[in-house]
Amino acid sequence: MKKRLICLLINLISLASYAQYVEINTINCKISDTEQKKIEKLIAYERMFCNEIFETRENITAPVKINLYGKNKDYRLEQKKYNAPASSDGFYIDNINQAFVYKNRDFIAITLHEASHSIFQFNFKQSPRWLNEGLAEFFETLDFDSEGNLYAAPQDFRIKSIKAGIDLKDAERLKKFFGIYNGSFYGHEVQDNYNTAYSVIYFFIKGKRTENLKQIIRLTNQGYDTEKAITQVFGSFESFEQSYKLFYNYHH
Ligand SMILES: [Zn+2]
Repeated sequence: MKKRLICLLINLISLASYAQYVEINTINCKISDTEQKKIEKLIAYERMFCNEIFETRENITAPVKINLYGKNKDYRLEQKKYNAPASSDGFYIDNINQAFVYKNRDFIAITLHEASHSIFQFNFKQSPRWLNEGLAEFFETLDFDSEGNLYAAPQDFRIKSIKAGIDLKDAERLKKFFGIYNGSFYGHEVQDNYNTAYSVIYFFIKGKRTENLKQIIRLTNQGYDTEKAITQVFGSFESFEQSYKLFYNYHH
């Protein structure tokens, strides 16, 4: 991603106008003004990214509601109530368009992840899981450096795991992975699924292939399954697989 371009985009928009569409409902906790502003700014970037990907301006007003819990007990109760996975400190419920986050040390990253589900849902209701979770994993790595420039820190442990397994896995692995819809994404291979989902998004964004990602999103939104969409965009699925493997073997 081009750092300068992002800064320019951030400067171009009036952040104040975005802020009113982020509601953070704090339960037994407080967040500082700085934290609040940082969250609003980074969510504004998610909105711009989705505007770009979905070729719209509507994400500016997509409502994002985060319930933030200071007490673990309160958060776990909500988790139970909504049947959310117990291992995580954040979850998103699409039919009420609300996210639930436990205020641990990483709560800003988790908030960005769950907000991304909310914005993505606004654009694409029945999206493939890899796309939805991969983007959320990417967005949670957004931050500002000491000079206030936006950057996305790579999730090294996910990338390492992908690199370690890339040549060992069978040839059908990626095809099978893209066929995973709905709940089975969160089954027994959940960590591997998150790693792969993130690695595919990271490949598109850092490999300067956002145009390809955009085309794939457009096609899947039209009802294509992922394998078919990728085949159309890359000429063949094997060609995609080759570029993906090259990216991880030689460049990162
Ligand atoms: Zn998620």
